Amino acid sequence: MSKTDIRSLTYEELSEKLSELNLPKFRTAQVYSWLYEKGVTSFDEMTNLSKDLRAVLSDNFEIKNCRIDLKQVSKIDGTVKYLYELDEGEFVECVVMNYKYGYSVCISTQLGCKMGCKFCASAIGGFKRHLTPSEMLSEIYTAQKDLNIKISHIVLMGTGEPLDNFDNVLRFLELVTAEKGLNISIRHISLSTCGIVPKIYELADRQLGLTLSVSLHAPNNELRSNTMPVNDKWSIEELLKACRYYTEKTSRRISFEYAMIKGVNDSESCAKELAKRLKGMLCHINLIPVNNVRENAYLKSDNKSMKAFIDILEKNGLTVTVRRTLGSDIDASCGQLRAKKIKTD
Ligand code: SAH
Repeated sequence: MSKTDIRSLTYEELSEKLSELNLPKFRTAQVYSWLYEKGVTSFDEMTNLSKDLRAVLSDNFEIKNCRIDLKQVSKIDGTVKYLYELDEGEFVECVVMNYKYGYSVCISTQLGCKMGCKFCASAIGGFKRHLTPSEMLSEIYTAQKDLNIKISHIVLMGTGEPLDNFDNVLRFLELVTAEKGLNISIRHISLSTCGIVPKIYELADRQLGLTLSVSLHAPNNELRSNTMPVNDKWSIEELLKACRYYTEKTSRRISFEYAMIKGVNDSESCAKELAKRLKGMLCHINLIPVNNVRENAYLKSDNKSMKAFIDILEKNGLTVTVRRTLGSDIDASCGQLRAKKIKTD
């Protein structure tokens, strides 16, 4: 019989499972606190439970953990990048950034990615499987413990497409925001999608209060389809319609991500086209100087093009920020470390 993945259970589900094992109700609170508040990695650490009880638990349940395979600390800004090993031979990345407002963690949601964006290192090696809610949680617990810190903000912007792993991601959100768990405010969580349109509608209807980031990266279908295959499934028009629905339903501003790639999508005419598309929308544009990924030939836009691009957007009443590049000395962008591992092994 396969063991139940205990850290993917909600409080109520855990309570039900424990009562099936004839354990009294108060045990749920104890076990839940060890798992979700203290983030233990084994049943043996649950020291207020008897040895027999710990044996019953480990016969029936498993705790999914990450093992730190590699840790890199940026000399420039202290950003920490981890490569974790999950099960044998499976690797995920996770990055911890130190901001004025606290520690933010960028987690992966899948092993690999199906989406195939041409500029992104996560596409290298293809898709292997979805991560479970417990594995996403474990990314956070492992970093917290290693650095002896408390994470206050989460971005779902690591490897994988969160809306392609919808049910597990929603459960992760429920668990990570639970009062008796890490109790991270949903307002401190951002989810980034390449644009899985039906799931944007579904997310909007749930009215969760998280920040939605949308990877736009181009002002028209022709350019977007060149780098993002997902655009062949749902066009920019369909994507922006879903985004408008999201803002109307949730009253939350959408953050559009736009990786500035030299000579590809950074011209003044691209800026004008983008401004026209987004004018009047409850949104914000986050320009990201594209990170060079060894496996592709894309280059960062130069400062002059960036400035001209920003001017045009601002003149059209749009709010624009340029993403601060953290951890540029440690391969901290999406999938870079994992791709390196896959190649060298
Ligand atoms: N699948 C999700 C989340 C993961 S990627 C998504 O597509 O949004 C997180 C962000 O990093 C996305 O905006 C993605 O397009 C961007 N990104 C990926 N590779 C990049 C690179 N080489 N340079 C700059 N941004 C990149």
